[in-house]
Amino acid sequence: MIVVTKFGGSSVSSYERFKQVKEIVLKDDNRKVVVSSAIGKIDSSDNKITDLLYLLSAHVKYKVNYDQVFNTIKVRFYTIKKELNLKIDLEKEFAEIEKNINSEDYLVSRGEYLTSLMLSEYLGFKFIDAKDIIEFNYDGKVNYEKTYKLINEKYNKIDKIVVPGFYGSYPNGDIKLFSRGGSDITGSILARAINATRYENFTDVDGFYCASPKIVDNPRLISKITYDELRELSYMGASVIHEETILPIQDLNIPLYIKNTFNPDGIGTIITKDETESNNIITGIAGKKDFLAINITKSKSQGKLEIIDYVLNVLKKYHVPIESIPTSIDSFSIVVEENLVKRNIYDIVQDLKENEDIIDIKIDDGLALIAVVGRNMVYKPGISAKLFSLLGENKINIKLISQNTSEISIIIGVQNKDFEKAIKAIYNGTVKE
Ligand code: ASP
Repeated sequence: MIVVTKFGGSSVSSYERFKQVKEIVLKDDNRKVVVSSAIGKIDSSDNKITDLLYLLSAHVKYKVNYDQVFNTIKVRFYTIKKELNLKIDLEKEFAEIEKNINSEDYLVSRGEYLTSLMLSEYLGFKFIDAKDIIEFNYDGKVNYEKTYKLINEKYNKIDKIVVPGFYGSYPNGDIKLFSRGGSDITGSILARAINATRYENFTDVDGFYCASPKIVDNPRLISKITYDELRELSYMGASVIHEETILPIQDLNIPLYIKNTFNPDGIGTIITKDETESNNIITGIAGKKDFLAINITKSKSQGKLEIIDYVLNVLKKYHVPIESIPTSIDSFSIVVEENLVKRNIYDIVQDLKENEDIIDIKIDDGLALIAVVGRNMVYKPGISAKLFSLLGENKINIKLISQNTSEISIIIGVQNKDFEKAIKAIYNGTVKE
């Protein structure tokens, strides 16, 4: 049995937390593959090493003296080294980092690299550098086939390892980062490559909640959720793990456990393909603010398909991903994230106006989208009726409704100002009921 265990930044943010991590890892002999994020925040007033490294990189780029921020970073590592009595030669490591300080991906990856080097020494596990086992193509996508082969070649000869999260390398050896929060993906790639029994993701919350604790008081913890439900929820803002985490593991049905480093015996959340028993109709509610709808009215003589195609091509030109396209006979809306079109909305509208069959364009901003997700909503009449009446009773105007035939999620658009109220109303009237 092999368990892959990943620790987030707050789990390794001080020497005391390194001790907690060690306790967790050593408690189960199957925890053979450990992945670590870079040192994170101890509390909300603190800084993540990754953020400081990005800041350092900006200083380098704009040729501003960087001694102070570099020093702040160094102190975090030296403190943990001293308290844990580690032998790691940090002077040598930092001298090497300074030599290559101009390369941003390399520099930022040093957070996970150094944290994992220290953790490997502390646990007595072998260190394997992610740059030697995770390979990216030059288009920025992971070369999975090659990566799985490299992992198996390396891991074959060793029993217990620590691997830094968040990066890999191009075929020429240059470091390439994942997107923020990407150590979660490193863990799932490893779990997939070695066909792990389970992938555990230790963070600083008890698991996934049915709704954000920032909006709803004491929301219920989701004990079991499917990969698909989780993806819908994390896409819509439930930010416990990176939304791409499940991609490598879902077809082998490797269960993903979300656990709390500070409450390791808690039940956490288990994510699997398994769709068995649950009496809850709604698994979770998540949402995001700040969307914008481009409402298009077309001439009655022109086919809708051609116009939608034209509009999509304009958005493609500006690299704007689309959230939803609710349509009626002669008009439709394209819903996009506001901050992705903010800079060029005038150019986009100008391009749209060039099509003579588009007779009106209106922008509706300040929209919030709420996803109500649940595998048990499928073939259950009355769910949307319930949601809409809850919103109606709370005097919340619905701006948009979208559900595809998989029925696993219903998306409701409301005004930003009604966002929190709508989530509370839905949660209190369904999950809590
Ligand atoms: N340290 C990186 C970040 O803060 C990656 C991670 O923690 O997963 O985004």
